[in-house]
Amino acid sequence: MSGTTPARPSLTDLPLDAFEPLAEELGEKRFAGRNLARWVFERRVHDWDAMSDLSKRFRTALAERFVVRRTVVAADRADPGGTRAFVLRLADGRSIETVLIPEEERRTVCVSTQVGCPVACVFCASGLDGLLRNLTAGEIVEQVMTVQDVLPAGERVSNVVVMGIGEPTMNLTALTQALSTWNDPRGLGLGARRITVSTVGWPARIDRLAALDKEFGLAISLHAPRQELRQQLIPNGGQVPLAELLAAAKRWFARTGRRVTFEYVLIEGKNASPREAAELAALLRGFPCHVNLIPVNPVAGLPWQRPAPDAIDRFRAILLEAGLDATVRHPRGDGIAAACGQLRLEVERDAGTGAAVGRPPTTPPA
Ligand code: SAH
Repeated sequence: MSGTTPARPSLTDLPLDAFEPLAEELGEKRFAGRNLARWVFERRVHDWDAMSDLSKRFRTALAERFVVRRTVVAADRADPGGTRAFVLRLADGRSIETVLIPEEERRTVCVSTQVGCPVACVFCASGLDGLLRNLTAGEIVEQVMTVQDVLPAGERVSNVVVMGIGEPTMNLTALTQALSTWNDPRGLGLGARRITVSTVGWPARIDRLAALDKEFGLAISLHAPRQELRQQLIPNGGQVPLAELLAAAKRWFARTGRRVTFEYVLIEGKNASPREAAELAALLRGFPCHVNLIPVNPVAGLPWQRPAPDAIDRFRAILLEAGLDATVRHPRGDGIAAACGQLRLEVERDAGTGAAVGRPPTTPPA
């Protein structure tokens, strides 16, 4: 994996526990480290000059080793429904996508964890050019801060969904640090229940997330009730035996007390017939879960289409009859290509920076 890390890290890349020791190392009192973290995460300043209660000496020493923040907004597109997609430029010139979804009182930010994606789901724009690199923890954390910066005064980011570009569990170390920085009161102070991670589902990695012992939400991209169909839709991930995946979801529930959400992208002619609905109902009957049906978002160059509305209703009805809790996610952000990395792909391809490295062969990770 190509791990391009720019020479000077951003302060947002530091775990919260590192701030006090850093202050000490640079000849300051520990509380100066706490204040520094507050300037970075709570007050979200962009430069050293703004950190008025830190000594000049401390700021100079910091400036030699760090930048305050790193990502910048390169493009921003709003949808009449209020969804807003941001393309963020990283220090190495690559870009990622972050989406703001305002819904009633909620302000949800959809965050990316990788540049590109190795999983290569056949219906998804994010994996079309393969994986370019992992994001650093700071690059993941900053996406929420950047969206907070553009919200009107009085509005706060209330929820985070790690459902943007990339497979979060393939960048687990950075993800774990980002989760902690968002959640910790010394960071952004967002409740764990307001943060959801979506994964294609590697059992050992689900277990590692569960072992954080926090009430984060977990969404598993299921997309098929049968192994061979799932494998076809999720080339680099669908090989995990369904029984093992469900067992991991059960362990998650046992440990965190939170039901898993199963995401199921509905694709006409592929996985959306009453047969698949009945199979899915049989597979999940009695399982402590929620099923989120997602009519596929058309992606330029890909042939997939949504089922007709009555076919979607029928699919859901079959799940409900089996006693499952199932909802349909209404498509949003179509007009701005908000879903799943499409805007980034447009911007990168226009700029010619989306250098495809191809899809790396992926062996199932431990
Ligand atoms: N890799 C992770 C997180 C990113 S994808 C995962 O697979 O869960 C987040 C969700 O968006 C997944 O459920 C994914 O299947 C869905 N998705 C991707 N492309 C889509 C498309 N074209 N239309 C609808 N949903 C899509």
